[in-house]
Amino acid sequence: MANEDIFKKVISHSKEYGFVFPSSEIYDGLGAVYDYGQNGSELKKNIKDYWWKAMVQFNENVVGIDSSIFMHPTIWKASGHVDSFNDPMIDNKDSNKRYRADELIESKADEYMAAGNEDKAATLLNRMSNLLEKNDLDGLRDLIIENDIVCPISNTKNWTSVRQFNLMFSTKMGSTADEADEIYLRPETAQGIFVNFINVQKTGRMKIPFGIAQIGKAFRNEIIARQFIMRMREFEQMEMQFFVRPGEDRKWYEYWKEERMKWHLSLGINKEYYRYKDHVKLAHYANAAVDIEYMFPFGFKEVEGIHSRTDFDLKQHQEFSGKKLQYFDPEINKNYIPYVIETSIGVDRMFLVILCNSFKEEEVKNGDKVDIRTVLNIPPILAPYKVAILPLVKKDGLPEKAREIMNKLKPHFNCFYDEKDAIGKRYRRQDAIGTPYCVTIDYDTFNDGQVTIRNRDNMFQERISIDNIEKILFDKVNYNSLLK
Ligand code: ATP
Repeated sequence: MANEDIFKKVISHSKEYGFVFPSSEIYDGLGAVYDYGQNGSELKKNIKDYWWKAMVQFNENVVGIDSSIFMHPTIWKASGHVDSFNDPMIDNKDSNKRYRADELIESKADEYMAAGNEDKAATLLNRMSNLLEKNDLDGLRDLIIENDIVCPISNTKNWTSVRQFNLMFSTKMGSTADEADEIYLRPETAQGIFVNFINVQKTGRMKIPFGIAQIGKAFRNEIIARQFIMRMREFEQMEMQFFVRPGEDRKWYEYWKEERMKWHLSLGINKEYYRYKDHVKLAHYANAAVDIEYMFPFGFKEVEGIHSRTDFDLKQHQEFSGKKLQYFDPEINKNYIPYVIETSIGVDRMFLVILCNSFKEEEVKNGDKVDIRTVLNIPPILAPYKVAILPLVKKDGLPEKAREIMNKLKPHFNCFYDEKDAIGKRYRRQDAIGTPYCVTIDYDTFNDGQVTIRNRDNMFQERISIDNIEKILFDKVNYNSLLK
């Protein structure tokens, strides 16, 4: 099956089974905004928990915070977002479609690569980087025309000029809104960490090196929305800023680069599906940056960024706020502004990794026929439900016995109860939402105190004692994969 078809299936499956819905769907939706349904919100929460455990619970020198979305507007001047958080956009006059100029050029470079013309691709990307660096928007337009880049809809080169478009959403605060009250919806969670650096360091008596982690919403008015939840206007980030002694930034950059890749692989995802991609053009605040990319059905794309941000942010906030943001290092008897290594991953992109990676259509024998089984092999620790409790029939005391077992497991595991339809059908429904284990209660349960436990991935079934269910589930669903 073509990769595009697989991706279409993933999208429709996630809607059909309550993972992701278009936002405001009954009003025909809202561009690049999505809602998470009953199963999606469980999966999303579990991804966030898995990250939080790995970063905060497993590292004694990393603590978490929860800063607000609204922040003082000067923060975004200091961070550089007001002046330079822009994307270059261009419109095609025939189709009236809008594009990011850099993405049009990157796609052309991919085309050159696919045709074996690597030098041409490299030259094109180099020229683009130079033009972006100089903010030469006319030059970017010329590059598009020169390389015969056409609009995929109209197939013409009838382009407007290139303009810069700031990605921050703004709104007004207070009842008498005038210009001075303009504030922004944060485009990243990182700045909430920087402005709390001293608060956390002092109250937590933190010693360098240490990290501050945070999970929260971010907003970007993306020019083009594409690829489902890959590029959204409202999304969630899991970020950690790690504060280090100047001169030790390279060492810690390498450390976190490796640690973060280990986190991804700890979920059992095939190594071949991941790669590092160094940034060619560094952001104004960085001295090194790398993306962790996953091979989505539409190609390798960024899921996480690791950035060595120098002392740029704290320095800027010190200057703009007039407050000292320094650390006294007792080991070397010196005051300094720490350097920062950032790890930044999108919750929604990670969610998409899990969906794409786990969606399978398998042929299974059913007597003389071959059926298609749709299954999500979600890592058990992330699965919305860990176990489904299924009485074989809806009578003769089986549902009551099933409820008894469910009540025992409920405090520890998210359980799904289902007594409707034939057992085979119920198994398939659980496969489709990724429930790793099904426990079936039948007539023999009354005699031998045993139930059947079915494994989602290999469909094996075995009889186990009711008294052992809890322990067996604990052995199979836990955070041990995070242990090094
Ligand atoms: P891209 O190049 O794809 O626009 P970026 O380099 O701007 O991403 P960062 O600013 O480094 O992204 O943000 C860190 C992470 O936040 C990204 O790796 C991604 O997982 C996530 N992210 C960024 N923008 C979006 C978005 N519009 N929708 C969903 N997730 C996003």
